[in-house]
Amino acid sequence: MSKSFIIVAIDGGAAAGKSSTSRALSERFKLMHVDTGSFYRATTVKLMELGVPAKAGPELGKGLNSLELDTALEGNSASIVINGWIPDQSIRSQQVNENVSHYAAIPELRKFLLDYQRDQANVARAKGFAGLVMEGRDIGSVIFPDADLRLFLFADPVKRAARRAAEGLADSIETRDKLDASRKTAPLACPEGATYLDTSEMTLEQVVDHVSTLVTAAFEEA
Ligand code: C5P
Repeated sequence: MSKSFIIVAIDGGAAAGKSSTSRALSERFKLMHVDTGSFYRATTVKLMELGVPAKAGPELGKGLNSLELDTALEGNSASIVINGWIPDQSIRSQQVNENVSHYAAIPELRKFLLDYQRDQANVARAKGFAGLVMEGRDIGSVIFPDADLRLFLFADPVKRAARRAAEGLADSIETRDKLDASRKTAPLACPEGATYLDTSEMTLEQVVDHVSTLVTAAFEEA
């Protein structure tokens, strides 16, 4: 018997190929695509606008309480909406790159986004998608540990820097990875039982083809 709805969790470091792979899978299998990195980036923008520093405390609590979250669909991708604002390219600025991992390390902020992230599966079902592909750092470990398929993408740092440069973006990839991997709450790591894929020597097409066979198998598993 095949499944009518699956959840695919894709984790990995910065510029490991998660977004391109997730987008391609969402097209191929009609899965709703959710980039949770954009949630942390957008929240960072809003907290910085409010002047809330990247540390736990009453200011953070007040700041988070003032943020109302919603979801907007653009094609197959779901976007976070914060107080009516749909995040744009400003969430990929150098300033956000430099600050986001500091905010993302705060347990209160992660808790604030937890149920919202899990609820994306309900959004995907309600909108008639065949499943959800969610990318991030802790999707297979914390958000959906029971996902039908859990992947961890790795690519060597030189390749990753080249990918970002090709996109015309300046990014502190290694610094972010170090911060993300060393934090106490939901650190970046390949969760036990997840499929680890080194994409350093693979083209995007090869990655997508390989992962597609795993997604097909996930649909077929009873
Ligand atoms: O995926 P992206 O590189 O845009 O993520 C930006 C930052 O958001 C990461 O460096 C990390 O600090 C944080 N993040 C996280 N947990 C996730 C997704 C992103 O901590 N699930």
